[in-house]
Amino acid sequence: MKATAAVLEQLNQPLVLSEVDIPDPGPTEVRVRLTATGVCGSDLHVLDGTIPFATPSVVGHEGAGIVEAIGAAVTSVAVGDKVGLIAPSCGHCDPCLNGHQFTCADSSLKWGRVRSDGTPAITRNGEGLAARFLGQSTFATHTLVEERTVLKAPAEVPDEVLAPLGCGVVTGAGAVLRVLKPQPGESLVILGAGPVGLSALMAAVNTAAAQIIMVDVSEPRLELARELGASAVVNGKQTEDLVATIKELTGGGANMVLETTAVPALLQQATQMLPSRLGRLGIVGAPGPDAVFSWPTIPLVMSAAQINGVVMGDGNAAFVQGLMELYLAGRFPVDRLVQTYSFDDINKALAAAASGQAIKPVITF
Ligand SMILES: [Zn+2]
Ligand SMILES: [Zn+2]
Repeated sequence: MKATAAVLEQLNQPLVLSEVDIPDPGPTEVRVRLTATGVCGSDLHVLDGTIPFATPSVVGHEGAGIVEAIGAAVTSVAVGDKVGLIAPSCGHCDPCLNGHQFTCADSSLKWGRVRSDGTPAITRNGEGLAARFLGQSTFATHTLVEERTVLKAPAEVPDEVLAPLGCGVVTGAGAVLRVLKPQPGESLVILGAGPVGLSALMAAVNTAAAQIIMVDVSEPRLELARELGASAVVNGKQTEDLVATIKELTGGGANMVLETTAVPALLQQATQMLPSRLGRLGIVGAPGPDAVFSWPTIPLVMSAAQINGVVMGDGNAAFVQGLMELYLAGRFPVDRLVQTYSFDDINKALAAAASGQAIKPVITF
């Protein structure tokens, strides 16, 4: 069928709206008419070449939409269902079988650029475009994905809320609820009030954590963090010694620190914000491929600290469905992070994400 996609023709150039063709679904595939797609940092990193993908290509991986056609073997959704798109997964590796679906070991599903049979998921004038970006490619009016990448959603969840749940939001919320798991009375420091950090904050507000401290350098974002339930905010630009400030606020160190900024110096400091025993560090932000941080072994061992790398919030389909319920219950106001743009303005949405002018730009169709 004919569709319109925002094609990355060349790195560092604006996307170009272009007529494309979407094939009919194979047995395990679902064709979705998109109603919304979020813009995420990983999309921007493809556009500027930091993440090697391909050109011409179609990226985007925070989709929401309506099922338009399904393959013969598809059972979890039907034509007309409202769906959110989630990270791709194989369904049979150890992580998939043990509740860690978004940490699936088959990375070809995320970066493979083509369908499982090797054919393109999007063509233009008969030529395949690189697609299936993170299993999705949602910068288009329609997309063709594997059944395991769609999740039936309640009609009441707004499209612009549903879309970012599948990546940016689940990444922050899962890091808190599934990995760090705040216990009653504990303290949590979140480094970075971007979409991931603010999602982590909104999740943490639903736990028994006694202290939730947001660190950022933007006053408007810190103000939003306060409104969303942060018990304290720290402006990193106005603080001479961030580690000392955190230690003072938490009475000796935060039980948990979540690093979302991908700033190596902050990650290094994060190791020093933990208490003398049993601190937990969650690392979501991924700086460049050569970035390292160090932790003297004896203090690390003697403090019995935990270091957790977190992919996609260690999420799975059931967890994302839980976040939808939490939103509907009024306890997870993702809409506060969202700014919507029309598809024609997709380059404006990308620019707003890159500059930080919008926290979570979402394109609605
Ligand atoms: Zn993402
Ligand atoms: Zn898997």
